[in-house]
Amino acid sequence: MSSSALLRPAVLIVSDTAAADPSTDRAFPALRQTFAQDGAGKWAEPVVEIVRDDILEIQRVVRSWTDGESSSSTTTPGTGPVNLVVTTGGTGFARRDFTPEAISPLIHRHAPGIVHGMLAASFQVTPFAIMSRPVAGVRNKTIIVTLPGSPKGAKENLEAILKLLPHACLQAAGEDSRSAHAGGVKKLEKDAGVSGSTANTTTTTTTPAATNASSGHDHSHSHHHDHDHSHGHGHGHGHGGHAIPKAHTDPSNRPPQSNDMLLGTAARARSSPYPMLSVSDAVATIFENSPAPIVEVRDLSPDLTGYVVAEDIRAVEAVPAYSASIVDGYAVMVRDAKATSAAHRDAPSTKGVFPVASVSHAQASSMPPPLQPGQVARITTGAPVPANANAVVMVEDTVIASLTDDKTEEATVEILTDAVTAGENIREPGSDIKLDEVVVTKGTRISALGGEIGVLAAAGVRKVPVYRKPVVGIMSTGDEVTDVAYEGTLTGGMIRDSNRPSLLTLLRGWDLCERVVDLGVARDTPHHELEQKIRDGFRAHGVDIVVTTGGVSMGELDLLKPTVERSLGGQVHFGRVSMKPGKPTTFASVPFKLGSSGERDRRLVFGLPGNPASALVTANLFLLPCVQRMAGLSGKGLERVVVKVQGRVRCDAARTEYHRVVVGVAEGRDGGSLTLVAKSTGMQRSSRVGSLARANALLVLPQREGWIEDGGDCEALMMGMIHGI
Ligand code: AMP
Ligand code: MG
Repeated sequence: MSSSALLRPAVLIVSDTAAADPSTDRAFPALRQTFAQDGAGKWAEPVVEIVRDDILEIQRVVRSWTDGESSSSTTTPGTGPVNLVVTTGGTGFARRDFTPEAISPLIHRHAPGIVHGMLAASFQVTPFAIMSRPVAGVRNKTIIVTLPGSPKGAKENLEAILKLLPHACLQAAGEDSRSAHAGGVKKLEKDAGVSGSTANTTTTTTTPAATNASSGHDHSHSHHHDHDHSHGHGHGHGHGGHAIPKAHTDPSNRPPQSNDMLLGTAARARSSPYPMLSVSDAVATIFENSPAPIVEVRDLSPDLTGYVVAEDIRAVEAVPAYSASIVDGYAVMVRDAKATSAAHRDAPSTKGVFPVASVSHAQASSMPPPLQPGQVARITTGAPVPANANAVVMVEDTVIASLTDDKTEEATVEILTDAVTAGENIREPGSDIKLDEVVVTKGTRISALGGEIGVLAAAGVRKVPVYRKPVVGIMSTGDEVTDVAYEGTLTGGMIRDSNRPSLLTLLRGWDLCERVVDLGVARDTPHHELEQKIRDGFRAHGVDIVVTTGGVSMGELDLLKPTVERSLGGQVHFGRVSMKPGKPTTFASVPFKLGSSGERDRRLVFGLPGNPASALVTANLFLLPCVQRMAGLSGKGLERVVVKVQGRVRCDAARTEYHRVVVGVAEGRDGGSLTLVAKSTGMQRSSRVGSLARANALLVLPQREGWIEDGGDCEALMMGMIHGI
């Protein structure tokens, strides 16, 4: 952006009250006035949106402002990222104040100085300023600042920093910092219209209206209380009744922590700072961050199986290319009142004895000679019908009348019927597939059943535009994880690596990947091994997606998130999902430089939980739709069916549960029609590998108290083919 263009601000009003009734909002008019009056003419009219106190809504709107195409590369005003996002509201201590929690994970580079400046300025007005919890920083090319919700407090905070922001905004947007700094701090101060050294000079409001202690306070609307309900998990009847680990303290009552690996165990976060997404929001986030599919042209062959066709494919040749017989028999001329040729209009009855003039086999080298009136021609199935013939009499309707001299073939045949009509037993050219007709539509997946390959081959299509299949690498993590090939006895805390062979098998079975690469095991110590192996996956093995298992729980050796964020410069898009099993599922993207060109793209990292059931369930729920998308499909994941549950199963009141089952077909209880039935694979603890063997589906147990009773209906997601129970 050039320095002379106006900077583009955006204001996000975060308030349940204002979202319900925008006319109650007074913050935006106050902020708008501040931009106009105190902005030194550097700011365009702010755009504004209102959202509820909802982490996902806040993040969605802010990202829509910060994550667009770069504004420096676009000439259209009003598109691309804005220069400054200010939020107002949700920075207090009320139950539904979590704007800082929504904004923090979006920030790529924090700016504590801005926070400090705002707090210092409003502290001049009221000591209650310390009751605001602002955050500030840079996301992509945009500066984000959270202001308090009271119009007065919001205005004071913005006034405190507004003059200083243009320079930072330009730098964040990519202005060369050397030229921006030419002239030193004094010049910057002069340009900004401020003078150095005292905090007061940046505060334009010094009226001690502190009795109205509003600066740091938020809007005083009533708050919803949506407590997480605790729930017991008894053992006992039916399936699913095992105790799951549960924290007995609330995250808001715990001290702040860090994910810096170098700080050691004591400083590490003891509860996850990542917002919890629903399964569907998690999938939507994956789609938002997945690269678009790439088209490539491949030869038609059985190797095309599993690819998704990228364009409508038209027939290059008609099928059949010539008039072909449908049966073995004799080509004849039958009477056809509507025919243009007299020979057909006046043809005599076919009943009688006729000389066999020629033979037409299904062969490639020649066409049979034209048929003359009074003759017939022997013809085999699929062979070209001689010119002038307009029907074929099947061999069953004939007898041999006389043989040739060498007695090897018929010289004449007797046709026993005159009921054969014009066109009978003949496939006209193009009657199966017309020339240029669409034979396979864009988006069709070439199945392993042969139908699509068959029709493409028949229609003479030799080159097929398809979407490239992604390359996926599978890696296990953990010092305890031991390769299956290890022949020694397990000692200490060693466990066999079951996730890697299991996921490699699963992904091969999907047949959506060009290659599934075994990336081995990354040990937890030394810490940098995970970083190194992920880099190797992208660079040496050329994978688009690295899938790890383990290392996403809350232990001090759970390195995936810090490795992505701190060592690989990537971004964790989500780190928790409301589901069972699979809660710590993590999805991230990391920047990747392509070769020497310096061009960058983003590669994906799925950090699946280490427990085998969690790993397999989350691979099916999150990795599958992503791989489907990248391979050119819509990404709808596993097929959904409704099943009758055999035996009662317990639901979880806090999370949707994916219960491993065998789905098969059985006769209805009343002896009636066939139905799909599901039988649990037994105890569902996430570490229990046995719950996976034979499982071909996931029962989707709704998040609620109680049970699905024996014989009750439930949705299931099919992972594999239906088989016997
Ligand atoms: P983590 O998230 O690394 O703490 O792993 C959670 C649990 O899953 C631990 O009990 C691990 O031992 C187990 N686990 C981790 N990776 C694997 C693997 N590749 N195969 C089987 N179990 C694993
Ligand atoms: Mg581990």
